[in-house]
Amino acid sequence: MLTKAAVTNGKGDPFKIESLKVDEPKAGEVLVRIVGVGICHTDLIVRDQYYPVPLPAVLGHEGSGVVEKIGDGVTTVVPGDHVVLSFASCGTCKSCMTGRPYACQTFYELNFTGTMQDGTCRIHKEDGTDVSNFFGQASFSEYAVVSERNVVNVPKDVPLELLGPLGCGIQTGSGAVLNKLKPEIGSSIVVFGSGSVGLSAIMAAKVASCGTIIAVDVQESRLEFAKELGATHTINPKNVNVVEEIQAITGGGADYTIETTSRPEVLRQAVDSLATLGTTVIIGAPALGTEVSLDVNTILFEKKVTGLLLGSSIPQIFIPQLIGLYKEGKFPFDKLVKYYTLDQINQAADDSESGVTIKPILKIS
Ligand SMILES: [Zn+2]
Ligand SMILES: [Zn+2]
Repeated sequence: MLTKAAVTNGKGDPFKIESLKVDEPKAGEVLVRIVGVGICHTDLIVRDQYYPVPLPAVLGHEGSGVVEKIGDGVTTVVPGDHVVLSFASCGTCKSCMTGRPYACQTFYELNFTGTMQDGTCRIHKEDGTDVSNFFGQASFSEYAVVSERNVVNVPKDVPLELLGPLGCGIQTGSGAVLNKLKPEIGSSIVVFGSGSVGLSAIMAAKVASCGTIIAVDVQESRLEFAKELGATHTINPKNVNVVEEIQAITGGGADYTIETTSRPEVLRQAVDSLATLGTTVIIGAPALGTEVSLDVNTILFEKKVTGLLLGSSIPQIFIPQLIGLYKEGKFPFDKLVKYYTLDQINQAADDSESGVTIKPILKIS
């Protein structure tokens, strides 16, 4: 069958809308009609080839849609089900077998090399040229063939076009708090950066009943928004010394800090503003090879610095939990979203990069 898709043909090229061929789902695979798909920072850095996913490619890794067809052996969904698409994992390595698919030992191969687990592609140009997928889903497209392991069944009483970003950016920010840090009630937490990931962390910190929730960002409008979503304090580093300000607000240092900006000097601030026994979570991904310097003697005070992948989340468990919180009004991630059409993808990407839109979603069908 044919699908209209946004194709990345060359390094840094804008997305180009083309008609492609989609294969039938093989054993263990699912054909999904995409309803909505978020645009994530990672799509844009792969469009620009900071990570060398083979081109041509269809990116998009925050899809939501309706199951159209299932391959042999698929047991968790049937046609008509509403699904969110998340990352690919193998299911058989040590990380997967111990309930940590976000750290799958073949994560790179399955999510960044453009093929399905069997090494072949499911989308092709009309002349037969293979087209890479992304995160095993390639959801900047009307139709996508994905592994059953990418698929998360979701309830039908929530707007399906809204749910795609739960598969990556929003589960990453909220998972940093709810899955990784699990902060004690009343504890203090600082989130550096108020983009979609940082704001998701702030909403999650409120859900977790943190007592002091500090948002740090250079844009005043983002700080105002962070307050609306649960921040108790905001800091604009343009105006003050961030570390001193955090120490003053928290009475000596924060229990937890989260770095989402990808800037090493901000990571240093995140670590320097910790209290004894505190933990910093790194989410922001800078260019490969980026280093940071830390004061060893401050870390000796039982402080921890840890990375985070995909919110340390098992999507089939965590995404329905987030939807439950959304339905209760406790996780209003719809406030981050602005809708575009597939044809407006380049505008949506520009608006994301300029900060005009926090989380663009392409409404596809
Ligand atoms: Zn694995
Ligand atoms: Zn992403």
